[in-house]
Amino acid sequence: RISETQWIWRDGQFVPWADATIHVLSHSVQFGSSAFEGVRCYNTPKGPAIFRLREHLERLLHSCKIYRMDVKYTIDELIAASRELVVRNNVESCYIRPMVVRGYGTAGMVPIGSPIEVYLPCWPWGAYLGDEALDAGVDACVSSWQRVQPNTIPAMAKIAGNYLSGQLIKMEALANGYAEGIALSPSGMVGEGSGQNVFVVSNGTLLTGPLDGSILGGITRASIIQIAQDLGIPTKEFHIPREMLYMADEVFFTGTAAELTPVRSIDKIQIGAGKVGPITKQLQQQYLGIAKGTVEDRHGWLTHCK
Ligand code: PMP
Repeated sequence: RISETQWIWRDGQFVPWADATIHVLSHSVQFGSSAFEGVRCYNTPKGPAIFRLREHLERLLHSCKIYRMDVKYTIDELIAASRELVVRNNVESCYIRPMVVRGYGTAGMVPIGSPIEVYLPCWPWGAYLGDEALDAGVDACVSSWQRVQPNTIPAMAKIAGNYLSGQLIKMEALANGYAEGIALSPSGMVGEGSGQNVFVVSNGTLLTGPLDGSILGGITRASIIQIAQDLGIPTKEFHIPREMLYMADEVFFTGTAAELTPVRSIDKIQIGAGKVGPITKQLQQQYLGIAKGTVEDRHGWLTHCK
């Protein structure tokens, strides 16, 4: 269950949590047409700070643009609202879920004429794959569900409807006793988790799939590529065949919610030493260190709330 906070920002105003409701016949409810983001705010020595907020809001507005949704707020207005949201809710660390919703108006599938509503909720949220997962790693499987074909449902847009695929991947994994599933792309190469990107370490090189229209361009993914570059870890983006997962020295997931979670086995095959590997550990420490304000924010990724 969501750990409720007091206020949700809705179209320029703060409304009590319980009042941020929409009608059952809203277009988004019927047709999955809401764009959203997931952003984390960490408690730093200088108070709460939001990690890469601008990039998340840019992705939100790009998702909206693809679906012809006009958002009447600028990124700077949404940044100011997000900062105020965290302060008003008096939370030190939280997850922020910006949402652009096609509301109640039209009956048919064509959304033109339904109002566009913008919401900013936030709530405290711990480690997505469990507290031990960040250290011990998780057991994953290759999903029997594949990701979408490019030019069908755009994978680079973060839209509610895309998460039907994610739900199938996640539910199947859980039903079979795994923490998470890795979906292959339509061409059978490594795609992504239900809500995470996937990285492989092979002979000291960091590998991840390219942005080929079958995965979301993760902001954590981009951050990890940048951190690897800072640390002098060779990095390549290329189509990873499934078997390279089993052959890998290390595998990990990246995502705002999942942060950087090691994968210790895939399809019951042990990955590397079956625990967090040295490169994963190093990247994780840097990533969480920057996010939590204990490692220098050398790329200007933090938006302080106070
Ligand atoms: N892929 C999918 C399908 C996702 O939902 C997410 C989470 N937004 C990611 C990858 C990771 O993206 P990010 O690092 O921006 O959270």
